[in-house]
Amino acid sequence: MLMNGNGMDGSAAQIRPRLFGTNGVRGIFGKELTPELVIDLSYSLATYFGKGRIVVGYDGRKSSPVISRLVRSAFNSAGLDVADAGLVPTPCLQFAAKRLGYAGGVMVTASHNPPEYNGIKPIAHDGVEIPREDELLVEDIFYSKRFARIDGNGSQFAEDNAIPSYIDAAISLVDAEKIRSRKLTVVMDAGNGAQAVLAPLLAERLGCRAIVINGQVDGDFPARGSEPTLDNLHALSAAVREAGADFGVAYDGDGDRSIFCDEKGEIYWGDKTGTLLVDHLLKTMDSNGGSSSGGTAKEVVCPINTSMMLSIVAERAGAKLVYTKVGSVEVSREMVRRGSKIGLEENGGFMYGRLNEVRDGAMATALVLDMLASTASGQKLSDLFSSLPKTFQYKAKFKCPTREVANTVVSRCMEHGSPKRVETMDGAKIWLDSETWVMVRPSGTEPLVRMYAESTERQLLDSKVQEYQRLIQETISG
Ligand code: MG
Repeated sequence: MLMNGNGMDGSAAQIRPRLFGTNGVRGIFGKELTPELVIDLSYSLATYFGKGRIVVGYDGRKSSPVISRLVRSAFNSAGLDVADAGLVPTPCLQFAAKRLGYAGGVMVTASHNPPEYNGIKPIAHDGVEIPREDELLVEDIFYSKRFARIDGNGSQFAEDNAIPSYIDAAISLVDAEKIRSRKLTVVMDAGNGAQAVLAPLLAERLGCRAIVINGQVDGDFPARGSEPTLDNLHALSAAVREAGADFGVAYDGDGDRSIFCDEKGEIYWGDKTGTLLVDHLLKTMDSNGGSSSGGTAKEVVCPINTSMMLSIVAERAGAKLVYTKVGSVEVSREMVRRGSKIGLEENGGFMYGRLNEVRDGAMATALVLDMLASTASGQKLSDLFSSLPKTFQYKAKFKCPTREVANTVVSRCMEHGSPKRVETMDGAKIWLDSETWVMVRPSGTEPLVRMYAESTERQLLDSKVQEYQRLIQETISG
């Protein structure tokens, strides 16, 4: 989100609001994300990229084509050539930036935010969001207005190969013959978002019957909003049952996140599906004799607040977990740095590094098909889900008057009681015993504290959550 603009005029050098939030630069188009800002940001990005061709794609929001034209014109004016990939899911644009010979990319998207929002997500030539430290470099250029040039005349051309080449690459990473032989049926809830133009084609190329609901791309997201949750996917569940489908999947507005349901229509949060996929991939990598591309196959990268379900399953498979700060860019960049092949974020952001180290709803779908096709005949997705380790989880957020109060909440929680161990990678993850933890962390963008907790014992979780909630509320109210 754009931070409020105090000090934007005159005193920008002293109080410089951040442009970048956790996932690119976002705001309400015309209000916070003005055309002027889009143009200056594009000049800044062109200056940052320096040279080479840039590929630009956009999601299905009403303002997206206009913003894409602004971005492309500004890049041309900055002297760079640009390709128009048109309406594509974010992971497809990221794939194009990486594999189709570009120096970088720009995705026009506000992911799952409400319709009036939009955003600019810069992609490096390696297909992943630019590193956090480079966001600051871009902001330096933006605020100093030291643009390399604005009198250029770069050219434009169409990039029509983004979707076909993406689909070919994704299919090459699964056992397509085995999947085709199963003739699976999948219901896909595109949520009026960008995966409507890609995911069904991928499923059909894998010999599946793809039943699409909410497949009309519509920037107002009239069907169920742009973010799939545990509570707004009733239509998906009903369609899966009605069709006797093998499973269902719902995507967010720009198609990087995916939430799955089993053949009975029961919806599972991303940590559960992600853990199943990790288990499947670790086994497959075993039978393939490890990673062919030289990376460290037997490890999984995930944020520090990820469920113990994953650590239990990964440990059983002899894999190591690598933790990062909370945030998908943190996970992606760590995967790139280490050459890791598997990463995930609990909100349905599964990352398969053999394609690209980014969250990807269509690739996750292909991997679920691969997983189902590799099970003994007759085994259903619900059987796989019921085999997962059981843990109990809790999440909450607390509004704080200031960031300082949010920081005080974290330190008070760290000093409280006699924890077994405290990890301070991002806020504080407080281990109460080897199977119970409470985590508090200040939000990076708003004055609030997020709390996460998990335990293998329900009662213990409830009592610890109450105890820490009281402490947090007391601290906030002073
Ligand atoms: Mg998204």
